[in-house]
Amino acid sequence: MTETTISEEFHAVGEDIADTKAPSGPIEKRWDERKFGAKLVNPANRRKLSVIVVGTGLAGASAAATLGEAGYQVRSFCYQDSPRRAHSIAAQGGINAAKNYRNDGDSIYRLFYDTVKGGDFRARESNVYRLAQVSVNIIDQCVAQGVPFAREYGGLLDNRSFGGVQVSRTFYARGQTGQQLLIGAYQALERQIAAGTVEMNTRHEMLELIMVDDRARGIVVRDMVTGEIETHTADAVVLATGGYGNVFFLSTNAMGCNTTATWRAHRKGAYFANPCYTQIHPTCIPVSGDYQSKLTLMSESLRNDGRIWVPKKGGDERAAVDIPEDERDYYLERIYPAFGNLVPRDIASRAAKYQCDDGKGVGPGGLGVYLDFAEAIQRLGLDAVKAKYGNLFDMYAQITGENPYETPMRIYPAVHYTMGGLWVDYDLSSNLTGLFVAGEANFSEHGANRLGASALMQGLADGYFVLPYTLANYLADGPYEPVDDDHAAVVEARQAVEDRIQKLLAIDGDRTVDSFHKELGQIMWDYCGMERSEEGLVKAIGMIRELKQEFWTNVKVTGANEEFNQTLERAGRVADFIELGELMCIDALNRRESCGGHFRVESQTEDGEALRQDAEFAYVSAWEYGDQQPTLHKEPLEYEYVEMKSRSYK
Ligand SMILES: Cc1cc2nc3c(=O)[nH]c(=O)nc-3n(C[C@H](O)[C@H](O)[C@H](O)COP(=O)(O)OP(=O)(O)OC[C@H]3O[C@@H](n4cnc5c(N)ncnc54)[C@H](O)[C@@H]3O)c2cc1C
Repeated sequence: MTETTISEEFHAVGEDIADTKAPSGPIEKRWDERKFGAKLVNPANRRKLSVIVVGTGLAGASAAATLGEAGYQVRSFCYQDSPRRAHSIAAQGGINAAKNYRNDGDSIYRLFYDTVKGGDFRARESNVYRLAQVSVNIIDQCVAQGVPFAREYGGLLDNRSFGGVQVSRTFYARGQTGQQLLIGAYQALERQIAAGTVEMNTRHEMLELIMVDDRARGIVVRDMVTGEIETHTADAVVLATGGYGNVFFLSTNAMGCNTTATWRAHRKGAYFANPCYTQIHPTCIPVSGDYQSKLTLMSESLRNDGRIWVPKKGGDERAAVDIPEDERDYYLERIYPAFGNLVPRDIASRAAKYQCDDGKGVGPGGLGVYLDFAEAIQRLGLDAVKAKYGNLFDMYAQITGENPYETPMRIYPAVHYTMGGLWVDYDLSSNLTGLFVAGEANFSEHGANRLGASALMQGLADGYFVLPYTLANYLADGPYEPVDDDHAAVVEARQAVEDRIQKLLAIDGDRTVDSFHKELGQIMWDYCGMERSEEGLVKAIGMIRELKQEFWTNVKVTGANEEFNQTLERAGRVADFIELGELMCIDALNRRESCGGHFRVESQTEDGEALRQDAEFAYVSAWEYGDQQPTLHKEPLEYEYVEMKSRSYK
């Protein structure tokens, strides 16, 4: 049996898909032309048009605030008790923008180039160019809102470097950049709430998408405090519901991050693109035991000054400070002299894994490498290091009980970000008319590997600068026929939610929801994590199918619907994660190449680097849901501006 038939045993292949909104012409003019070509809505008509925005992270809050300010009727939803608790608040290191304040050769074109290359040629050129263009506006917008970016002595905003680039273009607010940016977006959102253009619904979880006559027209939500099931309809729906890294159980994501909104939309017909592209971040605090439910990121910004090393001799049990310089291997500086400790995340993660596989790992179980600031402290002084990274060092000390100013930090790769997500066109519209997707929830811009500090940039680009034009273009043809609560499609969607909740509560089995989630996470980490193989993926699909079967017959969901019930919430999310996990493995099995965060052992160079197979796989995989099996639609990728070549950071 050939490899192709093995993969195709698990899915069907459909027609290719095209981005029909993709602009042509000179790349630097494409966005301007799209904006000029987009239909406008007269301000007086905007208040007759309604939009549902699910998610209040950077993407959702910025979209809702901007659409509210423009005059549309916006209804905003999140599952937290406050919009400003969205996971975006956890972002530490920074946000990229091509301002070239450092005069070090940066430009819109270079940010575009770095992002296309960093994504291993699996992102669309037009989208990435637009992202680089609007990056400069984002910084101006946030400064105007009062976001306290770090400044240099002369008053200009300060910059630092992130992986995969040789310029300093990352704007930051200590190690709390996401928090400060989210407070900015939240203020803008609150202003609209006070003005009455945005209605905020906290503690409401979207559990279904409502489709009416082939258009996305609303959502079904559960009030997480009372259990009441509500339906909301509008002229358009925006999902800005974040990533799905928690499919691995252990990740750096906030505990609540989940796939339910995007997976429910997928089941209603929205294509899921590149689900297997997961980012494993190299600098996280290593797992310390079975009881753990969360991993902690140590920001990539630490790689600006910290040096990564392992002892040259395997099994060396001496304390780090007792190992002399000539017995240390600064392996990233050795293997990748051009980028050194600032190679992209996928490369740094795999390099750490290989050192540990080789027996050179440090700390419990040998699953760690050192991130050492001794040289930086000597060069810059203790105070300067504290000023730049103090809160990260404190966090490390609190979690590990070790003082990172005196002994190197121990780090190991962990699941961090998902490049895959719902398929969208250039307008950020999914293949379902009226359903738009923003931020980490969509698949666009980062290809197979996201560069550090580019997620915040994308979320804010989508919300502040892209959707306000492209969504308006869609709304200009509205308002659409009003949809009442007793419309058959609304009743059916609501009933489906109620039935599913009752089904979960009725199983009354023996296993906790978390035990299923943990088992799924282990399968995903073992077979669809840093390395994937045909044999492992086939095995994983079988294991996930069995797990799904057991979940729906043996899960124990305590309590009732009509109350605050976190077990019920988690059960619904884990059920969706199980289905998504299976699709991720099928996607990874189909993609018989290595690119970015997706490393297939069968496709590597002689020295163990990722080997792309452009002739066969230069496409986006857009998956259509099917009861029996998913169908793959390919969107071919073409590169006019950046020559497709092997990534080299040597
Ligand atoms: C620890 C950490 C540090 C990071 N640091 C950086 C960094 O320095 N720079 C960078 O660029 N990126 C960073 N990232 C990545 C970045 O933080 C995220 O990609 C980004 O914040 C995602 O924003 P978002 O608006 O798309 O989604 P989120 O911020 O995840 O928001 C999702 C929103 O959707 C809502 N939601 C989800 N599902 C539902 C549902 N079913 N019903 C109702 N509401 C729902 C949630 O309530 C929430 O409001 C980091 C990530 C982590 C984990």
